[in-house]
Amino acid sequence: MEITDVTVHTVSLTNVAGEKADGTQDAAIIEVETDEGITGYGEADSSPAVVDAIVNAPVSHDKSAGLISVVLGRDPFDVEVLWNEMFDKTYFYGRKGAAITAMSGIDMALWDIMGKATGKPVHKLIGGAHRKSVRAYASTLFPADPSDTETMRERARTAREDGFTAIKFGWGGFGEAYETDRALLAAAREELGDSFDIMVDAGMIWGRDVKRAIKDGNRLDEAFDLYWIEEPIYADNIDGYRRIAEASQTRIVGGEEEYTSYGFRDFIERGGVDGVQPDVARSGGITHMCKIATLAQAAGIPLYPHGYSTDLIIAANLHLCAAHENAPLLEYCVEDSPLRWELVEEEFPVDADGYVAVPDEPGLGVTIDWDTVERYRTEF
Ligand SMILES: [Mg+2]
Repeated sequence: MEITDVTVHTVSLTNVAGEKADGTQDAAIIEVETDEGITGYGEADSSPAVVDAIVNAPVSHDKSAGLISVVLGRDPFDVEVLWNEMFDKTYFYGRKGAAITAMSGIDMALWDIMGKATGKPVHKLIGGAHRKSVRAYASTLFPADPSDTETMRERARTAREDGFTAIKFGWGGFGEAYETDRALLAAAREELGDSFDIMVDAGMIWGRDVKRAIKDGNRLDEAFDLYWIEEPIYADNIDGYRRIAEASQTRIVGGEEEYTSYGFRDFIERGGVDGVQPDVARSGGITHMCKIATLAQAAGIPLYPHGYSTDLIIAANLHLCAAHENAPLLEYCVEDSPLRWELVEEEFPVDADGYVAVPDEPGLGVTIDWDTVERYRTEF
C-alpha cells in the first residue's frame, strides 16, 4: 500500500475568542489517501494555519522539510519508520511544539488506515482492550468572571444530570485570588456533594510561583478534596513540578504542553508527577502516546489522555484508554461548539454511570461529516 496524498482541512468558527482557552474554536483535520482507496483521518491540535504550513512546506534541506515530502509514496504500515523519519526531517524546526503536533495528525491517520485495511479497531492493533468502556470526566472551563459562582453551579449541575461522576474546571477566572478560587470551588462542591470527583486545571496560572502553587493548592484540596491539580505552573519548570508534587497531598498532573517520549521521560522522572496528560493530537500521535503510556506504567503512574477539541481525539483516546491498563479516565470536553460535536457522524454518548463505550469499528471508528467541514472551512 502506498500513500498518494495528504490534505490538511482547516476549519474555524467565525467568532474566535482569543482570550478564552478553548480549543474547540478551530481544528486541522488531516486526510491521508492511499492507492488502495483506503483513507485515514487524524487531527493536529495547534494553529491550523501553522499545521498546514508544516505539512506542505517545500524541502529546505536534509533536516528541514514539509511532512508531505517524507510520507508520499510510502507504506502506511511503516508507521514507526515514518514517525522517526518525520522527526528527523523536521529536526531544525521541530522536536517540540507545532511540528510534532502536525506529525501527530498524520500518525493518527496512519493508524486509522491500518485499522481499516485489517478490519480491526485501533485498540486491537496496540494491545487489545483492558476495558470496553471508559469512565469519563466532564471537562469545562471556570467562568471568566471569578465572582460568577452561579455559572459554576450550573456547569456542575449539568455534568451530574448528564451522567458524569467527575468534572474538571480549568482556566477562565481561576487563580485571580485565593478567596475567589475558594468561592468558585465551594459552589461546585456544594452542588455536587461529597462523592463526586472534582479536578482543578490551574492552566499554569501560578506561572513560576512554586510556593503559591503549593500553598493555594493545598488549601483548596484541604477544603474541597480535589482529585487532582493540573498544570499548576509552566511545563518547562520541571524541578518546580517535583517540588509541588512532593509538597502536595493531592495528585499533581500535567503534560498537555509536553511532547514525545523524550519530553515525557524527563517530565516523569525529574518532575515526579502523579499522572501525565499527553494529547494524542499534539504529543506524537498514537505511536508516541503508546510509548508515553509505557513510561508512565513503568513509573507507576496513570496516563490521563488530554483532549479538548473534536470527536477524532475522543475516539483516539478511547482506543488508548482501552489498550493501556494505566489509562482509566477519559477527558470529555463539554464545550458548546459545533466543531466539538458535529465534525464526525458518530456520537460517543456518556451512559448513566458516566462511562463511554470504546469504538469497535475498523480504524479509529469515525466518519468525517463533510457538511460540517464545508460549513466551517477556512483558508488561512
Ligand atoms: Mg489542561
